[in-house]
Amino acid sequence: MKKRGGPDAPRGSELTREEIEFLIGGYVSGSIPDYQVSSWLMSVFFNGMTFAETGVLTDVMLKSGKTMDLSGIPGPFVDKHSTGGVGDKISLPLAPIVAAAGVKVPMMSGRALGHTGGTLDKLESITGYRTALSIGEFRDFIQKTGFAMTGQTKEIVPADRLLYALRDVTGTVESVPLITASILSKKVAEGADALVFDVKCGSGAFMKNIDDATRLAESLAGTGKSMGKKVVALITDMGEPLGAAVGNFLEIEESMDVLEGAGPADVTELTLAFAAWMIVLGGKARGYDEGRLLAEEAVKSGRAMALFMENVALQGGDCAKLLADRGKRRSPHRAEFRAAADGFIETIDAFKTGLAGVYLGVGRNRTEEAVCPEAGMIIRKRRGDAVKKGELIMDVYGKDEASLAPALALLGEAVRYGQAKPKASELIIKEITAL
Ligand code: URA
Repeated sequence: MKKRGGPDAPRGSELTREEIEFLIGGYVSGSIPDYQVSSWLMSVFFNGMTFAETGVLTDVMLKSGKTMDLSGIPGPFVDKHSTGGVGDKISLPLAPIVAAAGVKVPMMSGRALGHTGGTLDKLESITGYRTALSIGEFRDFIQKTGFAMTGQTKEIVPADRLLYALRDVTGTVESVPLITASILSKKVAEGADALVFDVKCGSGAFMKNIDDATRLAESLAGTGKSMGKKVVALITDMGEPLGAAVGNFLEIEESMDVLEGAGPADVTELTLAFAAWMIVLGGKARGYDEGRLLAEEAVKSGRAMALFMENVALQGGDCAKLLADRGKRRSPHRAEFRAAADGFIETIDAFKTGLAGVYLGVGRNRTEEAVCPEAGMIIRKRRGDAVKKGELIMDVYGKDEASLAPALALLGEAVRYGQAKPKASELIIKEITAL
């Protein structure tokens, strides 16, 4: 990076590593107060950062805490990150499929917040399943089954926890370089050598339009590459919920369907596309098509499903109860969402469906709130389907009776009808690779 910082540098100049280290180090140690960092965040929000600055910020944040020590385990390690969506359960079938093809997946996931779901909450809906693994357990499970699923510990990237909380209250969350450094620092800290990103685009996503999604995908790929990581970012549609299940245990069930080759077409397609790229990045295939065949084979042979069940047992889950509960474990507080008009379903808005999920107890508004494993929606009719007024569109399950009415009202706004069949939307909108 050019040395352009210092007190005499023109406004908007590129920051030096020393300046970024001074700021982040001072914030984490408490010597630089919130109000000074807030004004820096706001200037990044408006001016942006170069890829080189973003790379340095990522590296400095990464070094603010511990990193996951995977030494001694033969790699390479490839992980996936999604920017978050509704019904997005891809990580659940993906990790065992990729592991079955011989690539190690050290997966560190997050929790539901706002309208978006969280992998940890879905996994914890399996009775007994533990997601707070020690480093020793994480290493051990990766060695045994090729993958492990854990949450972010306090020791990993403490700078991100502090900065994210400050961004949240200063209106600076939606800044591409800050999002990039936040996501990448955590992914690199967990020991990944290569990464795939699912950059969601649409009403249910962080990035609502293709231009913003492209800027984020290019920033993740460009910054990742500048840090020596191979990166593939797919921009995927999040205008509608993904799959037919939105809910914690419901999404575990749908993930198991995908692992048995019987999942919904969209969830299956995205899972196999990401798996193919991860298998390529892990060096087990020479190109996408070969990776795809290996991913399909992992499903067909039953090997991926067997690894999923092995992981459930290793992480404390009750396998017998999981199998017995499948298709049956539902909240007793149930309602039906029925079509308000004849016609074709033109859209099922992902954002509003996700908000309905928060009322039902699928998600939460504050990090300390509990979620309900048995709550959610089963979507029986999807975009483009013809419906008659009164026909069942969704089964709705709430944490209690009171949660059902506001959720149904939101679903009434989420579902739109038209007289013509809408054009099919593209699931994978763009592919950005930095290899
Ligand atoms: N997810 C993250 O981890 N960080 C951000 O800044 C935004 C989304």
